[in-house]
Amino acid sequence: MRHLALLLASTVLLFAADKPAAAPAKVAPKYQEGSCCDKATKRGDKCNHPCCVKAAKVGKVCDHCNEPVKK
Ligand SMILES: [Zn+2]
Ligand SMILES: [Zn+2]
Repeated sequence: MRHLALLLASTVLLFAADKPAAAPAKVAPKYQEGSCCDKATKRGDKCNHPCCVKAAKVGKVCDHCNEPVKK
């Protein structure tokens, strides 16, 4: 039953995300300048590093290859 609840929750989330009338501009993933992902994207390709593919699958940017900007 947990499964069903989860499914329902994500459905609700999907509908909630659909609410805004003006479609927000697609935010480009924040790849670090010069990283493998950045280079691949600029080639019109996708980075095929296993770590990056894994991160992309969950909607993230691999932070092994794209370190957050240090201040
Ligand atoms: Zn990469
Ligand atoms: Zn990576």
